[in-house]
Amino acid sequence: MPIETSLDPAACGDDRSRPPLADTLDAATGVDLHMHSRASDGALTPTELVDLCHARGIRHMALSDHDTLDGVAEAQARAATLGLGLMPAAELSCQWRGQGVHIVALLPAGASDGFQAGLDVLTNAREARSREIAHRLEKIGLDDGLARARHEAGSERPLGRPDFAAALVTAGLVPDRAAAFKRYLGAGKRGDVKMHWPTLETVVGWIRESGGVAVIAHPLRYGMTRRKRDLLIEAFIAAGGEAAELVSGYQNPGSTFDLARQLHHHGLYGSLGSDFHYPGGALAPGTVSPAPRSHVVPVWRHPALAEFAAGASSPSVTL
Ligand code: AMP
Ligand code: MN
Ligand code: MN
Ligand code: MN
Repeated sequence: MPIETSLDPAACGDDRSRPPLADTLDAATGVDLHMHSRASDGALTPTELVDLCHARGIRHMALSDHDTLDGVAEAQARAATLGLGLMPAAELSCQWRGQGVHIVALLPAGASDGFQAGLDVLTNAREARSREIAHRLEKIGLDDGLARARHEAGSERPLGRPDFAAALVTAGLVPDRAAAFKRYLGAGKRGDVKMHWPTLETVVGWIRESGGVAVIAHPLRYGMTRRKRDLLIEAFIAAGGEAAELVSGYQNPGSTFDLARQLHHHGLYGSLGSDFHYPGGALAPGTVSPAPRSHVVPVWRHPALAEFAAGASSPSVTL
């Protein structure tokens, strides 16, 4: 008998520690489908993140780093030893009507060649964008912004706005990162550079050709009116999108209730995720505001996610 068999969590019976996911979003426990590791702007290694999730009772998780799958193989290996379900995922940057929008790609069958090529497009876009952000921040007194942001990142991973926020703090130009986003990097500010990102239609296309499910990340965090969000959802569905996060971290209950109506109206599946980045902050893995009772169908009821929901072993995927 091959020795790998004894390492297979299914063969060890570990699946019993992974109950099937609930039929409704309001009854869901032990699930978090939006989290970050050091492969993007999170503080923990993929292994540390999986360990923390396990300790917190999460049994179904998605690692969804920004524009990369680099942490997934490590997370999958750790999840397999602990009997956790690990969904390969990434949070893709795109633009719609000149606004930056994030789409979580849930990839139960792994990434297609086109998706992999898309990640290269996003990495290049991120580099071009970093140069542009550094250039724009020169005007407010940040010299050598690219090198400073790279220093803050502490690794060779692609840079993001949080690295520039840290550089602004270190340079003494703002008191803290929140102020850096509020003044210079947040939506509509001079350091919010979107033009390098591919379109919504393009990134949803990469997800579809991978056999994955496209999920609008944190729909309430774009500062859109309800009507504008309707238009975003219509464009997203026309492109092949099928789901949106009903709850992302902490949300106002009234807004969540209204969002549930909106998602149901458009026939979107609903997802849940903390958008966890680092320990010690307001959020921990698995901490999301309660979902209201609603007709929104959990994204894990999507046929492509059936095995994941049932508690089967992590899909073995090409990454
Ligand atoms: P980027 O992917 O480079 O566009 O950076 C976006 C990331 O910046 C988000 O995923 C958050 O981690 C972080 N971020 C966005 N807005 C804020 C904010 N207001 N305060 C702190 N961090 C933020
Ligand atoms: Mn982030
Ligand atoms: Mn996001
Ligand atoms: Mn995120």
